[in-house]
Amino acid sequence: MDSSSHSIWRASQALVWLVGLVILLALWLWPPIGIHAFWNVLIPVAPALLVFGTGIWRNVCPMSGNALLLRHLGRSKREALSPTKQLALQWIGLLLLLAIVPLRHVILDTNGPATAWVIGGLTLLAIWAGNRWEWKSGWCSSLCPVHPVEKLYGVDNIGTVPNMHCTACEKCVDPCPDSTEGFHLQHPDLDAGRRQLGTLMAGGFPGFIWGWFQVQDYSDGTGWNHLLEAYAWPLLGMVASLGVFCILRSACSARMDPERGPERLTRFFGALGVSCYYWYRLPMLFGFGPFPGDGMLVDLRSDLPEWFPLASQACTTTLFFWWMVLRKRNTKSWSQRPAYADPGMVDFSQF
Ligand code: SF4
Repeated sequence: MDSSSHSIWRASQALVWLVGLVILLALWLWPPIGIHAFWNVLIPVAPALLVFGTGIWRNVCPMSGNALLLRHLGRSKREALSPTKQLALQWIGLLLLLAIVPLRHVILDTNGPATAWVIGGLTLLAIWAGNRWEWKSGWCSSLCPVHPVEKLYGVDNIGTVPNMHCTACEKCVDPCPDSTEGFHLQHPDLDAGRRQLGTLMAGGFPGFIWGWFQVQDYSDGTGWNHLLEAYAWPLLGMVASLGVFCILRSACSARMDPERGPERLTRFFGALGVSCYYWYRLPMLFGFGPFPGDGMLVDLRSDLPEWFPLASQACTTTLFFWWMVLRKRNTKSWSQRPAYADPGMVDFSQF
């Protein structure tokens, strides 16, 4: 990479980190602005960014910057993470995701400081994991609650970008989600435990998203009275879509290519998940949600035609199914693997 590209990446990392800091401060000091910036701008953009540019996101994510700062400074412990521990951390990451998202309806979507506390807690966890384990193994590829979503949506990125964190590859995770071509939740190089986790995520997440959108936001502390509702809808949706996933997989297993078949099913469910998200979320941003005012960025109901929600749903669903399922498969990795720290290491994922 030439020095100007390197500088542009570093400037982008610094800029996104600063934006993250400003949003965090706004959540504390000016909650209505912080809530809009975080829940109604940043988060709605994130799924599309993961679909088209997971590698870009992993380079500039402020949380990965926090996690890896000590490693960049040469002051982290750099412990090797065993596959068993990595699986345990990945389970915790997924459970964090499933625990935090329903809390949005209970308190986070309407309470800036509560959101800031959650982000602050995750930041401490990221710094601890990044300090303890080598490169991205502890946080970015294990404990981070967004990582399961990256793996579900990031099956077909626009291109491969340089890895702006790992200066030399220590093979800290195997297979490395950043550097393995055609990586997905059912990748054949994953062991049985991680494939099971992948099945839960790929099969269950579309239903989890659907269930999440069936619950309204509660404010002023009233959400705690609706805790059961906030968790029951997404989790029941998750069970239902996981059931469909497993039925389809066993029904097609005889006819499926053992390598391509699970990947196709995973891509299909990834497209289902992200399409379901924008099906509800995009109209909501402009005031067309099922619960008036929830998740609204700007009220355009009197400016946009009545058919706007249907048009946006048709466009986003077509786009994601075409990109992730129908068009010619692209197996590029999220980012380039840097040279191995130990020249004796071999990248078997390339064979
Ligand atoms: S590129 Fe190498 S060092 Fe970096 S996360 Fe992947 S396996 Fe770890």
